[in-house]
Amino acid sequence: MYLDVPIDTLLNPDGTLQKIQHIGPASTRVILEVLQTGASAIVEAAVAASPQQSDILRRRGLRSHFLSRAAALAALRSRKPNVPALSDIRCDLQMHSDWSDGSQTLDDIIRTGMARGYTHSAVTDHSYGLPIAGGVSMERIARQHREIDALNAAYAGRFRLLKGIEANIRADGSVDMTPSELAQFEIVVAAPHSALRSANDQTPRMLGAVQTPGVHILGHPRGRMYGSRPGVTADWDEVFAAAARFGVAVELDGDSSRQDLDYDLARRALASGCLFAIDSDAHATDQWWMADTGLAHARMAGIPRARVINCWPLGRLLEWAQSRSRAA
Ligand SMILES: [Zn+2]
Repeated sequence: MYLDVPIDTLLNPDGTLQKIQHIGPASTRVILEVLQTGASAIVEAAVAASPQQSDILRRRGLRSHFLSRAAALAALRSRKPNVPALSDIRCDLQMHSDWSDGSQTLDDIIRTGMARGYTHSAVTDHSYGLPIAGGVSMERIARQHREIDALNAAYAGRFRLLKGIEANIRADGSVDMTPSELAQFEIVVAAPHSALRSANDQTPRMLGAVQTPGVHILGHPRGRMYGSRPGVTADWDEVFAAAARFGVAVELDGDSSRQDLDYDLARRALASGCLFAIDSDAHATDQWWMADTGLAHARMAGIPRARVINCWPLGRLLEWAQSRSRAA
């Protein structure tokens, strides 16, 4: 999944495979089988003999519309006029710091953002409603905001760190923070973290979230996980239409195991008139590249640059965010 190039380009003329890091002889045999026949008899025989066969087949069904690293890089290289390029992205709007479950400090976020050529970014630690992910209490948020103010003064004119939060969408569609708490943040990402394996329709839950005043971004809208869970089931066209009406951006979360929205759903959100955020959901400084995977999905969906809020200058982003907050 993380190879930079399509695997068939690593075939030698004599039919052997070039050495790939961490790939031993057994896996090499399987890869060659797939390249030669389109499937692996070794793997299929093992699956057929396995007592967990039905679970394996279920998990296989949860791998569609994910991009390998090589496919994402190819999408970034393709020539398309109106879609955003890497150089158009000015910020990342979902990331976690060591104040919740991340390892990067606020200063790390600023430095890494500057190294990527960004002018601003948001720290969006988990809200206190999600203690399992180190959710931050409002008292600690007040301290974090003082630290952000100090950092913004120190980096004035070079980088601006935005005060954000990743709020949790409850099963009933409410967001786990009060209106006055939400109003303390410049960027509010609201995302589902429960009932992600249920086949029941959850359209009202997602509609509730996008209608909540003060919410700016619907983060990883489905909450799917590669080979593990399908995420929320909903009438997405209805959810996207509401997001467009309320001016909430829907997120392309580039985390490798999320890729949520993918290019297919993103195309439908585009047809509904949505705005988009493209984020890494990074918890560490070496995960920022995952935003590029989200960008690859956006390019494949044909989303124009103007609809991507990460391409907007800071002033325009803040104006939009404040108008969303005033809708309260
Ligand atoms: Zn999340």
